[in-house]
Amino acid sequence: MMKEENDKTVRGLSLRAINYIVLIFSVAVTVILLVSAVWTFRAYYSYAEATDTYMGLQETAYSLMDASDYLTSEARLYTVTEKRIHLENYFFEAEIAKNRDRALETVRDAVPGSDAPRQLEQAMEKSNSLMKDKEYYAMRLILLVKGDDDIPDAMKNVTITEHDMELPNDEKRKLARRLMHDEEYEARKDRIRSDMNRCVEVLKKDGSAIQDDMEKDLRKSLIWMCILIILQSADLLVIFVMTTRLGIRPLIMAVRYIDNDEKLPEKGSKEYCYLAQAYNRMYSIHNRNMKKLSFKAYHDELTGLYNRAGYDLIIQNLDTENTAFLLIDTDKFKEINDNNGHETGDRVLCRIALVLKGSFRPADFVFRIGGDEFVVLMTGVDGDIKKLIGEKVDMINSSLTEDSGDLPAVSVSVGVAMCGEETDFQELYRRADEALYRVKENGRNGYSIY
Ligand code: GH3
Ligand code: MG
Repeated sequence: MMKEENDKTVRGLSLRAINYIVLIFSVAVTVILLVSAVWTFRAYYSYAEATDTYMGLQETAYSLMDASDYLTSEARLYTVTEKRIHLENYFFEAEIAKNRDRALETVRDAVPGSDAPRQLEQAMEKSNSLMKDKEYYAMRLILLVKGDDDIPDAMKNVTITEHDMELPNDEKRKLARRLMHDEEYEARKDRIRSDMNRCVEVLKKDGSAIQDDMEKDLRKSLIWMCILIILQSADLLVIFVMTTRLGIRPLIMAVRYIDNDEKLPEKGSKEYCYLAQAYNRMYSIHNRNMKKLSFKAYHDELTGLYNRAGYDLIIQNLDTENTAFLLIDTDKFKEINDNNGHETGDRVLCRIALVLKGSFRPADFVFRIGGDEFVVLMTGVDGDIKKLIGEKVDMINSSLTEDSGDLPAVSVSVGVAMCGEETDFQELYRRADEALYRVKENGRNGYSIY
């Protein structure tokens, strides 16, 4: 039985396994979360960088226009004020500062594959040809008027038409100013401006396309991070619910079952089931031992009848009312022992016990209270049962003497005390003993009622 119990396999989810799984899952989620956090930061910085780059490029593109406008302004100022400083400013910007060239270079380097540098190149070409066609010519005319021979290198191969050469100085001045302010000049400036605007448009479009892509990436990685955080929280929830349902709750319930001296239900985690099974095994063994102990304590080992302690216990809880007390002593039992040996004597006692057990109702109690002395308590008796008792004793004695088989024939003497009001078992015993004494006196093998 115990082996069977030990071999019983333990069912249920293992909390340890769940813990490991949840831990591995949690570590994996944390790693992915960290990676995606790094990725999100990088995406964010790339986004910010791209925004800055494209904003910067737009400003650079505008700076080409600004440089072109500066040249226009200096050329115009020179044709109007005829102060050489403006001529020098003009060539400083065109040949030394080279803001237009630098703007073009920057855009070309930053977005080489884009359409923006091409637009800016066109603006640059138009700006250059405007310089050569108009601004150099106008400023050369002023140099002529002023008789200034210090001609900047770039202007040296500008040749003034014969017609213009012959014009008086005032006309030359007027022509120079007109060249710098006429409709054609404005139209060509507008074309430069529109090339530059197209470049800015392209930059804006490219920039916002890249920003859109990056924004999508950023949004995606943020969504992933949210999902991972939800997973991590779910992970925590799972471990909480599992430990509560499979571990903590069964343990709390177990305490109640133990308090009520009951077996533990084997429901919960595998670990708890192990514990519950071990406890239940111990509980069964303990209970069996206790039962054995209490049976031994209250029963006679030889005959299996209640012993003296059993008698003391039962009379404590039994009402003397409606009870007949039969004190039974084996006749000349010493002789049986002496003639047949102690072992046979024991077997005779067992046979007497068996006959007594079989002669009374299950509700009656049969005790062996001494060596060859028995007590029968007939419970729930009413009316006149003296006759019945007599018949029973006769039956017992005839059974013991006639059907004794290989055992020596034996008889019993019975003293009977009938219960009544205000009698306790001690008194009943005394009376039965007195009656028994009379039977013994009168030759045994019979009964007497007190
Ligand atoms: P009486 O008819 O007057 O009762 O004569 P008796 O020989 O039966 O005398 P008594 O009842 O005084 O003796 C009981 C004997 O029972 C004494 C003892 O040797 C014997 N005895 C007591 N317990 C046991 C037992 O467990 N086994 C056996 N075989 N004998 C026992
Ligand atoms: Mg005797």
